Amino acid sequence: MTERTAAEAEVILRRQALRESAARTYARSLPIVPVRARGLTIEGADGRRYLDCLSGAGTLALGHNHPVVLEAIRGVLDSGAPLHVLDLATPVKDAFTTELFANLPPALASDARIQFCGPAGTDAVEAALKLVRTATGRSGLLAFTGAYHGMTAGALEASGGAEAVRVTRLPFPQDHRPPFGVPGAEGEQLAARWTENLLDDPKGGVPAPAGMIVEPVQGEGGVHPAPDGWLRRMREITAERGIPLIADEVQTGVGRTGAFWGVDHAGVVPDVMVLSKAIGGSLPLAVIVYRSELDVWAPGAHAGTFRGNQLAMAAGTATLAYVRQNRLAERAAVLGERMLTGLRGFAADQPCVGDVRGRGLMIGLEVVDPDTGAAAPELAAAVRRECLERGLIVELGGRHSSVVRLLPPLTLTDEQAGAVLDRLTDAVP
Ligand code: PLP
Repeated sequence: MTERTAAEAEVILRRQALRESAARTYARSLPIVPVRARGLTIEGADGRRYLDCLSGAGTLALGHNHPVVLEAIRGVLDSGAPLHVLDLATPVKDAFTTELFANLPPALASDARIQFCGPAGTDAVEAALKLVRTATGRSGLLAFTGAYHGMTAGALEASGGAEAVRVTRLPFPQDHRPPFGVPGAEGEQLAARWTENLLDDPKGGVPAPAGMIVEPVQGEGGVHPAPDGWLRRMREITAERGIPLIADEVQTGVGRTGAFWGVDHAGVVPDVMVLSKAIGGSLPLAVIVYRSELDVWAPGAHAGTFRGNQLAMAAGTATLAYVRQNRLAERAAVLGERMLTGLRGFAADQPCVGDVRGRGLMIGLEVVDPDTGAAAPELAAAVRRECLERGLIVELGGRHSSVVRLLPPLTLTDEQAGAVLDRLTDAVP
């Protein structure tokens, strides 16, 4: 083979790999062309209607095109207000901040600063990491197995799958891998003790932690709720050692888990909260809120063009207020428990379902091989396709993409919840 032919062969191979990757991407995306949507329902170009339990990856706390969200957006458009205001104070921004702070854990709200970030959750994670590194003068980070914090370089380091240089990976108590593979109280204690031992061991390999970042419920990692006792222990450990605790509430915030914030279940007050998704009421918005003591970074330390989008702030204010006024977090707790109970009853004699878990309206169903009990990603993908056939949109997650995930809007009615469960259980072979 001449050199040229080898180079050509390489190009052909690369193109083939690209085609295969595109095919995989296509296989993951849904064969739906959505043209209209309202509440839980999406209508496709073919006229079919679907129950959407993906909710824009959790951005739609009130479902699609909720009237109060549309009205808030129209209000800004009709007022002639600037749509893009960067750092300037405006009535729209003021209303958003006031509503957000009214819903924060009071012990944080009483002494907190806010930083508007780029429009994605991952950018707010970057801001949080930068904040704690600046405030402590240290660089190491404590993050957890199975975590997901986004896809920019820093956020990816903190995410569970990545090999990271400055990150010490600690066991998340619901992690099923040995030696921490004991879900329940014993696993929680082991995970907490391991964290403590690592921090006490001078050779433990923890490079001066600038912060600990945790999701109150791991979402993308396969819907693993952090037990309350364990989260409280993490708060104690970090407080004792002067390590800022960052709660990544990008997915768990705004009532999703059955409390306004995921940390509320444990009564834990973090030093930094990372917020995005639902706080923008379906439009792109991300902020961090943090204790004023950490506010030692220079003005402009987290700049970026797309901060201060007034449409997103107005949509977010309307969403936060609606969730608060209509007690949708409490409703998510009740409805979520009912759905989990229903699914657990179904799973009891269903060998393809290895586990049902969740908190509030953040629900996961682990699909397993009925013979071996091992995670079964292909079977999970088949369940997802079957759901779609029955007019139900769900997402996959987890380390092996074997967890069927439901993130319905908090406005879900009892009747809709019943329809979702019927379609889902019908789709499991
Ligand atoms: N943090 C958590 C807990 C998330 O679930 C996600 C996204 O799913 C992110 C961060 C990243 O947010 P974004 O996709 O908006 O960058």
